[in-house]
Amino acid sequence: MKACIAASVLLMVLLFGVPWLRYAPEKGQEEVPQPLSAAADVIRVWDGEKTLEMTMEEYLPGVVRGEMPASFEMEALKAQAVAERTYIYYKMADGGKPNHPDANVCMSSACCSAYTSAETAAAKWGSRAAEYESRIQKAVQETAGQVMLYGGEPIFAAFHSSSDGVTANSGDVWVSDLPYLASVASPEGADNVPNYYSTVTFSAEEFQQKFKAAHAEAVFGEDPQGWITDPVRNRSDRVETVTIGGVTVEGTEVRSIFALRSASFTAEATADSVTFRVTGYGHGVGMSQYGANELARQGKTWQEILHWYYTGISIESYVQTR
Ligand SMILES: [Zn+2]
Repeated sequence: MKACIAASVLLMVLLFGVPWLRYAPEKGQEEVPQPLSAAADVIRVWDGEKTLEMTMEEYLPGVVRGEMPASFEMEALKAQAVAERTYIYYKMADGGKPNHPDANVCMSSACCSAYTSAETAAAKWGSRAAEYESRIQKAVQETAGQVMLYGGEPIFAAFHSSSDGVTANSGDVWVSDLPYLASVASPEGADNVPNYYSTVTFSAEEFQQKFKAAHAEAVFGEDPQGWITDPVRNRSDRVETVTIGGVTVEGTEVRSIFALRSASFTAEATADSVTFRVTGYGHGVGMSQYGANELARQGKTWQEILHWYYTGISIESYVQTR
């Protein structure tokens, strides 16, 4: 029987390429999904030192714990679980990243998704540990197998903490526009997001040092009030480009150089300092987590939340086959 399955899988590979991910057929259709295979369910996770092999059941709760407060509304937690599950399948199909070529994902939020083990989370949650862990498990289990697809493939399910009223188009932040990562309205604001508005002030000297470390060619005159010119805002009202010390840079790079919480900012100079006023937190693409929490409070389901933030996607039950 095993040999028979292996032979048929080999034939499928020869005919169709690697078919290890595919739709679960709708009920009533004649094709019966292959049973889940433990071997096919292995996610290769780089922990910073070595590659671990984890199942979806082991790995997925860890990234939901790591990426969204467990106190969030249940429908927001479910939306997060589906976004994370989709992202994992996207990465499994896409291969590794330059800093972990042999692993599908790593445990860093700067690269893939933050992973928090049950033990670490319990220590952090204290007396609420049992309640919060059950919420995480419920979010994962009640959306079991559900993923977001576009054109039949798992999407790059980007998400961020909070937006400035609208999410960003993927092409405003990264290389190109993806149809399902288009700018949409997002309902969160200062009333329901901690540190929604943030302010960072640099002395004139600090500002110059940080910018010149990235752009040594910049030229700064005596008065900081002439240093920052020609801000251009993009379609989602974040900073597209701005000229600093005569060098035109992208808003996303300014965010990185000065460690701003987002690229939705204004900059104001005085005779001896520069102050950034920033709205929201994160790159702004895809689902806003605080926005998802607000939509859930308004009574939206996890499916409605995902359709809100990811344009034109379908939500399907997905199984792995060998
Ligand atoms: Zn990574």
